[in-house]
Amino acid sequence: MKTEQQQHILSSFSQTLEQLAATHQLRTLKTIEAPRRPEVLLHGNNVIDFCSNDYLGFSQHPLIQEASIQAIAKYGTGTGGARLIGGTLDLHRELEAQLAAFKQTEAALVFNSGYQANVGVLSALISRHDTIFADKLNHASLVDGALLSRAKVIRYPHLDLKSLEKGLKQASSQHQKFIVTDTVFSMDGDLAPLTELFELSQRYQAWLILDEAHGTGLFGESHRSGLWENTGLGSQGNVIQMGTFSKALGSFGAYVAASQTVIDMLIQFSRSFIYSTSLPPSVIAANLKAIQLIMGDKSYTEKLWHNIRTLQTELDRTLSSPIAPVIIGHADQTLAIANALLDAGFFVQAIRPPTVPQGTARLRITLSALHTTEQIHQLTRALAGLIQL
Ligand SMILES: *Cc1c(COP(=O)(O)O)cnc(C)c1O
Repeated sequence: MKTEQQQHILSSFSQTLEQLAATHQLRTLKTIEAPRRPEVLLHGNNVIDFCSNDYLGFSQHPLIQEASIQAIAKYGTGTGGARLIGGTLDLHRELEAQLAAFKQTEAALVFNSGYQANVGVLSALISRHDTIFADKLNHASLVDGALLSRAKVIRYPHLDLKSLEKGLKQASSQHQKFIVTDTVFSMDGDLAPLTELFELSQRYQAWLILDEAHGTGLFGESHRSGLWENTGLGSQGNVIQMGTFSKALGSFGAYVAASQTVIDMLIQFSRSFIYSTSLPPSVIAANLKAIQLIMGDKSYTEKLWHNIRTLQTELDRTLSSPIAPVIIGHADQTLAIANALLDAGFFVQAIRPPTVPQGTARLRITLSALHTTEQIHQLTRALAGLIQL
């Protein structure tokens, strides 16, 4: 029996949930039974997956799976501690050395997830006297990290360098300035102008913190280490790059690549690094193998870019990445279209506020190197039957 007071407390939560449902904003968990990408078994139905960030199909790669299984056999399933308290294996160090070579930086550090990396980096390196300049469409983990730092946060309109420069000019030179941005925007798929951002960071003596969650493994002529690689600017003292293993690299976890001094600071002060058990050997070994594969072989990304060009032609618009948003506007309409696509055999996620700004609810189509040209045709045909393309 619940006491009256308990019922009262619960009823306020129930009201919140009912309100969300009434405005088509309630989030629900869709359960996948058998991921055999690009097809997945979803609530008993076989559908083609167009919402995964597993862009290269690496979660299913036999060599990565084998590396992971071997690591379990050798090291077991867990590390038994945080990195600073007995939780650092030679495998973690090997991955960090490989990352520094991949990113061409002095040093690198592994974090347990992209969310933890962003929260940990911003809160460790930025003090409450400093100023953060953040793109309005940055990932939520960067927003939360900025809050934790207690710094002054200036959110500039998406990609608006004029506005950013105005802010930089006005900021006090007494304290540090940090420009923080996604390189590939997760819900829009467009790209940050990194060379111009770097120039601004030099002109106004600011740090530049880049989130390569959707860039790592996809961009970069020589290593495919991220969009920064394409600038040709290499290792720069004021640039801090983070990225994840959870998207194109097919597994889980994140990294920060920077100067040795920055990495040493993170080991001392980054609370999400210090106070969390380190990633298990199976995950570290998968990440190591994924980096080795992507560095050594261009063909994985070439197949994906071929698919991006196919979808680009079908939608008759330019795509900068495997993320193709189709903006619908209203949350309820977006949900209805996503459900209709599901009935037709296509798993496309509806993305609604607060993940994206009000009035910009959208379908977020993501491509994989595993999709066939025919599957992309089928999706766009189904889509054309539902909305004006
Ligand atoms: C997914 C994502 C993250 C979070 O990474 P996880 O490893 O999933 O925690 C951070 N930043 C961006 C831009 C992302 O898309």
